[in-house]
Amino acid sequence: MRTTVGIIGAGPAGLLLARLLHNAGIDAVVLESRDRAHVEQRQRAGVLEQGTVDVLRAAGAGERMDREGLRHDGIELRFDRRRQHIDFPALTGGRSVTVYARTEVCKDLVALQPKEGGPLLFEAEALAVEGAGTDRPSVRFRHEGREDVLVCDYVVGCDGFRGVARRAIPASVSRVFERTYPLGWLGILADVPPRTTSWSTPATTAGPPCCPCAPRPSPVSTSRCRRTPTPRSGATSGSGTSSSGGSRRTTPGPCGAGRSPGSR
Ligand SMILES: Cc1cc2nc3c(=O)[nH]c(=O)nc-3n(C[C@H](O)[C@H](O)[C@H](O)COP(=O)(O)OP(=O)(O)OC[C@H]3O[C@@H](n4cnc5c(N)ncnc54)[C@H](O)[C@@H]3O)c2cc1C
Repeated sequence: MRTTVGIIGAGPAGLLLARLLHNAGIDAVVLESRDRAHVEQRQRAGVLEQGTVDVLRAAGAGERMDREGLRHDGIELRFDRRRQHIDFPALTGGRSVTVYARTEVCKDLVALQPKEGGPLLFEAEALAVEGAGTDRPSVRFRHEGREDVLVCDYVVGCDGFRGVARRAIPASVSRVFERTYPLGWLGILADVPPRTTSWSTPATTAGPPCCPCAPRPSPVSTSRCRRTPTPRSGATSGSGTSSSGGSRRTTPGPCGAGRSPGSR
């Protein structure tokens, strides 16, 4: 099997990259170790920042997001029992965030792939990247019970922090871009009606518990508390509560675990 760009992983990054390459007339093959249902139902993110919304639109994958996503213009921080509304558009020249679940982003991008894009193989696990650093890298993978090789001009690892692609990059050429923030957030998803229409976040752990909130009338609420970030070595979990380590995100989003207003 041969392609220009071999993409490992059909999460949001791999799927969007495949879409962008298709739009640019570059052929690509996506290998995904899990089945389609897993990709479309895996809960993680609920909030799309403006840059993500813009790139999905530009890629021709934003039609349902624009119809069903919930634009969200601010958060409420709480400190010493005082409330401070943070008005995103006023502070950022009109930018905001959109609540639209990762599951929906993946469904939209997966649906476009067979219609307009190149091959997307589910249950195709990349076993190793070979020839990294040469002009003919390849991916050895297992699909439908047998091993095969995808020969590429480029291999892109969108298989997550612990994926095989990261391990294949020789330490001598590896460069890591990371920014560490001194704080993190603990998000809690609760089956109680929200009290406000903004996210609220207590800025001190000495304050009262966070107040349930959601972007519009909803039986589900998300709250988040500031916490001290923990090292990255621990596995993240997609059930019940979520925590964002200080090295990954700058803005508090909603709890990505469980249901969110944008998910079905
Ligand atoms: C609880 C939680 C809440 C979050 N909330 C938000 C939020 O509100 N907003 C936001 O923007 N971000 C949020 N994030 C972060 C967001 O989920 C990630 O940034 C995003 O999922 C990264 O996408 P990705 O495609 O790079 O990797 P992933 O989503 O991890 O996808 C990697 C894919 O690669 C596949 N794969 C792995 N190994 C192989 C292999 N060997 N062969 C083939 N395929 C393989 C996996 O099955 C998977 O489908 C949240 C994360 C968590 C954990």
